[in-house]
Amino acid sequence: MEITEHILTNNDCYKAGKTIVPKGIMVHSTGVAQPDVEVMLRAWDRPGVEACAHAFVHADGVTETLPWNWKGWHAGKPADGKVSANNTHISFEILEPAGHTYQGGTMIGYDARKNAAYFAAVYRNAVELCALLCQRYKLNPMTDIVDHSEGHRLGIASNHADVAHWFYRHGKSMDTLRADVKARLEGGEEMTQEQFNVLFAAAQASREAATAVQKASTWAADAWKKAEAAGVLDGKSPQAPLTREQAALILERLGLLGK
Ligand SMILES: [Zn+2]
Repeated sequence: MEITEHILTNNDCYKAGKTIVPKGIMVHSTGVAQPDVEVMLRAWDRPGVEACAHAFVHADGVTETLPWNWKGWHAGKPADGKVSANNTHISFEILEPAGHTYQGGTMIGYDARKNAAYFAAVYRNAVELCALLCQRYKLNPMTDIVDHSEGHRLGIASNHADVAHWFYRHGKSMDTLRADVKARLEGGEEMTQEQFNVLFAAAQASREAATAVQKASTWAADAWKKAEAAGVLDGKSPQAPLTREQAALILERLGLLGK
């Protein structure tokens, strides 16, 4: 499976820049008959879109759209004011094939036979992505992966039918998906170096770029300004961690290390 990255930097969700500690994965489908990932990227990579998931899963692979530990906007508001899965779950949207419409949450005119090969491809890519994320974030495939409709029943998501409303047409369900992810993990499939790079190196670069634009916290703003004015710090990336070599440099600038 090929993973590429197209972070939706123009989406308000990306700009909000909130992070989460991933505790699970929420599986969605877009609810629109549009299998072309480029069209979806164009539709979502702009201001004013009130949704953003961490990836699109399509027939050719996976396109990461938010750093995995960003807070996404995918689960909506649970009915009874409980905490939304946006605060806990990595999310992805599986692209649906062309040709059907919707009435409420039901697919109309969906041709399961014609779409069999397409579905097999996106299902396989979804399983692979879940396996990679379970490895990376130490998640349990049997308990930590849910779809939007299960999230609603658990009180952590709005009332949507995805993806159960679609999977059953191909004899699949979230139970088969979880079992397939588990089997894949137990099969000891290691991620390739290329997948590792895309998953972690690129996400790290995005995080650093985003950290760089963050402002110093209110409680630190005064001290931050003074540190920059005194030449002790360079005034960049106020919330980035300090390395040991940077700490040594700071001690030297403070004149604490002698000659
Ligand atoms: Zn959904």
